[in-house]
Amino acid sequence: MTAGRDLQRDLRALGDVRAPTGLSGAVLARLGLGVAYATLDTVIGRVFVAYTPRGAVAVRRASSPRAFEADFQKTFGRAVRPAPAPPAWLARALASPGARRKLPVDLGGRSAFERAVLKKALDIPAGEVRSYAWVAREIGRPAAVRAVGSALGRNPVPLLIPCHRVVRSDGTISDFIFGPTAKRVLLRHEGVDPDALARLGREGVRYLGSDTTRIYCFPTCRAARRISAPHRVPFRSERQAATAGYRPCRLCRPALARPA
Ligand SMILES: [Zn+2]
Repeated sequence: MTAGRDLQRDLRALGDVRAPTGLSGAVLARLGLGVAYATLDTVIGRVFVAYTPRGAVAVRRASSPRAFEADFQKTFGRAVRPAPAPPAWLARALASPGARRKLPVDLGGRSAFERAVLKKALDIPAGEVRSYAWVAREIGRPAAVRAVGSALGRNPVPLLIPCHRVVRSDGTISDFIFGPTAKRVLLRHEGVDPDALARLGREGVRYLGSDTTRIYCFPTCRAARRISAPHRVPFRSERQAATAGYRPCRLCRPALARPA
């Protein structure tokens, strides 16, 4: 009984132990572990990227290195130290976001749902956008559209995981971690015209089909972009496309393919 009580007391005491502030950071830094950061120039300006040997953990904008360090310490409860130069993989990944499926990103501490959402965003090619509803359906949680929005809003590594490629179903450019203006800049840079998307949205057009292939797409799909104007057929809904005898594109998957 005494042993049990001692154990309980010892376990409780463990919770009171605090390492001196900065110790773990200094030790880890000496071992080449811990969190380092680099600054990188992007189309939306300078960003700070924190990373561990396991991958990137945070992408942030900040007014100064000191402001970034303070923000990181507050958010993650860990110290971050400047690296002499950004690792090559990081510069490559930022130059073409989402291009590498095996992007070294450290998503430790995220829920399975959040990881599924963030990984799905990596499937959206540059120059294309998808909707929150699409992400929800693709990860097998079609009713979780709002939760998808929240998970993307908490993306720890924007740009690297291209959450900016997710917009509303009506083509409206929704909010973004770095603000809607940055989102538009990023999308334009990748070849998406946000105004054209909004125009289609206002007209109620959700999909574009080709009357030669009888396949329909999201408007930004690379296959849809190849449809010449005389063969382009607008659709307002999946149902309208299916009723007209069109099949969903296998590249952009505007709907689940129906079993033959
Ligand atoms: Zn398509």
